[in-house]
Amino acid sequence: MPKTSTNVLHPIPFSAWGLGFERPLLIAGPCSAETEEQVLATAKGIAATGKARVLRAGLWKPRTRPGHFEGAGNEALAWLRRAKAETGLLTMTEVATTDHVEACLKAGIDMLWIGARTTPNPFSVQELADALRGVDIPVFVKNPINPDLQLWIGALERMDRAGIKRLAAIHRGFTWFERTPYRNSPMWEFPIRLKAAFPDLEIICDPSHIAGNREKLGTIAQQALDLGLSGLMLEVHQDPDNARSDAEQQIAPREYGALIDSLLFRSATPTAPMQDRLEELRDLIDQLDEEIAQKLGTRMDIAERIGDHKRAHQVAILQPERWDRIMRRQLKLAGHLGLSQAFVKEFMDAVHRESIRRQTDEQSSPVGVVPAGSPLSPGNGVDG
Ligand code: PEP
Ligand code: MN
Repeated sequence: MPKTSTNVLHPIPFSAWGLGFERPLLIAGPCSAETEEQVLATAKGIAATGKARVLRAGLWKPRTRPGHFEGAGNEALAWLRRAKAETGLLTMTEVATTDHVEACLKAGIDMLWIGARTTPNPFSVQELADALRGVDIPVFVKNPINPDLQLWIGALERMDRAGIKRLAAIHRGFTWFERTPYRNSPMWEFPIRLKAAFPDLEIICDPSHIAGNREKLGTIAQQALDLGLSGLMLEVHQDPDNARSDAEQQIAPREYGALIDSLLFRSATPTAPMQDRLEELRDLIDQLDEEIAQKLGTRMDIAERIGDHKRAHQVAILQPERWDRIMRRQLKLAGHLGLSQAFVKEFMDAVHRESIRRQTDEQSSPVGVVPAGSPLSPGNGVDG
């Protein structure tokens, strides 16, 4: 784990933010504010569920490529104000430049968030921090798109040093170089490590940008709650299919209400006492161990299927260069994740031995099959 001992934050709990909410904080709203009617209809739909305290909407949208809808901009500030007046929901939007900050402060937006494409840039974050110095407004910092805990912490620290007291983090998943079932890999270890470093920091989850589709929202939201995160931010749109950004992952207000109803909320997290903290951390460990076991099970199933496939096509099971590649990749990852090479090598060797056992247990064909009991050394690779 990267060193965090020198990091300093002074987080205060939601209950002390003076905004009338506490854990779990529920935030809902469209990816983008598109029109006044869309913002108002969505806000009213959300308010009618009674399941959110805050209305989110992006006014300035950071798009990966130009030519897409880039948000309604300043004009939409008045729409949010009106939505607040008509529903009582607090308002929240993303700021990426000092102009955005100034416009939001002038318009009386209640809370701000820093987006996943801004957090990785210390220059941008520092500019925002300077624009916010001396201003008492709640700020949420999304994780950087790349899995780098120190960048996330760094952005939080810049806000903290600028005097932002009502400071929280949003976990929205990470870009990963391999295909995963998610738009952004949840990599739960990151919010867990952040929480371990700063036990009092409120971290909420944005299942919409992790999932990237509607089907997985519930599972991710539940996982976040089970891990003790402090709330949820979900993208909700009056007419999700026709949303101008992130249409696939947005849901209608009614579906949002049903989703929140389907979740299991743990009773309010107790604060401070040593025993509670220990139990909280143990819960996290249990959850991670379960995930590791599930992933290992899936991996072995797949390795077995590869074995079947090779047998069916009369291909040798032993493919040393494949194993070399796997091991090299894992050792490189180990470096990135702060794990020791020796540990990762030992772990992967054990996984490898079990894969070999699973692939060679049913010896239906002699082609390339390792005889039972063969002393396979790591480096005599089989797939998976
Ligand atoms: C958003 O919340 O709509 C958004 C752009 O999110 P992120 O910065 O997490 O990609
Ligand atoms: Mn979005």
